[in-house]
Amino acid sequence: MTYLKLNDGNRIPRLGIGLWEVPPAITARTVASALSLGYRLIDGAALYGNEEGLGEGIRQSDVPRDQLFVTTKIWNDRHGFDETLRAYDESLTRLGTPPDLLLIHWPCPAQARYVETWRALIRLREEGRVRSIGVSNFNADHLERIIGETGVTPVLNQIELHPRLQQAELRAIHDRLGIVTQSWTPLGQGRSFEAEPIRAIAARTGHSPAQVILRWHLQLGCSVIPRSTRPEGQAENLALGDLELTEDDMAAIATLEAGERTGPDPATFG
Ligand code: NAD
Repeated sequence: MTYLKLNDGNRIPRLGIGLWEVPPAITARTVASALSLGYRLIDGAALYGNEEGLGEGIRQSDVPRDQLFVTTKIWNDRHGFDETLRAYDESLTRLGTPPDLLLIHWPCPAQARYVETWRALIRLREEGRVRSIGVSNFNADHLERIIGETGVTPVLNQIELHPRLQQAELRAIHDRLGIVTQSWTPLGQGRSFEAEPIRAIAARTGHSPAQVILRWHLQLGCSVIPRSTRPEGQAENLALGDLELTEDDMAAIATLEAGERTGPDPATFG
């Protein structure tokens, strides 16, 4: 497993397993299977309704806790300073272990409370209750506002990113600010699996379209969190070591940009 350095001195595995829509009843075994295959980063959230299973999967595995990196997120109905502290306590109880990274799931600009929420995350980090703090689905103006008002830069912004939504502008802003970009829905619901450059690179290198896309994320410098509940899919998504995309491959995939979201628009959602 290789790692990216965070701006607070900690490090995050570059590739992890995502738990959105993983049914609670199979979450523990999904996590335990991923850990046995070599995953060390697990992306959870209060919204996913499976934090108990996440914690259980860690306890079932024989990988020491200090080798794992667990993320969870504050959901949209828990914005505000005190409410966020309460939401954190509830996640902690469900997980049974403190997360390594706590994120604000969406900025919800219409609620106008994300700066307060960010102050609560800063407090939790100051108190040593979470090691790293970051955000998700923040646009440039949201980032600018929390950094401007608190002086604390998030370590990471988890955003929708796949070949049909490449987020070049936001990635450049992250690079300038020292924020890691983490890609959600990295496989883009399979919409690019059949696209010509992906198919051609997969055929040439003897890899699957999913592997080509995941490797593309890593070569962009992103952390990536594909979801698979099947051990075979989990293993496939982890087996990227011998795959290297050329500059021409990267340029060909860049042409797939279509400005196409699969999820909501952070400027208006929540
Ligand atoms: P994904 O891009 O990981 O795709 C998952 C789908 O692709 C599943 O149907 C899975 O069976 C299939 N798949 C996985 N590996 C495959 C392979 N090798 N070949 C073919 N198909 C394969 O989608 P996702 O779950 O939406 O996103 C990944 C993670 O990102 C989530 O689980 C969650 O942790 C996170 N996420 C975060 C947000 C956010 O707002 N912060 C939003 C959505 C997702």
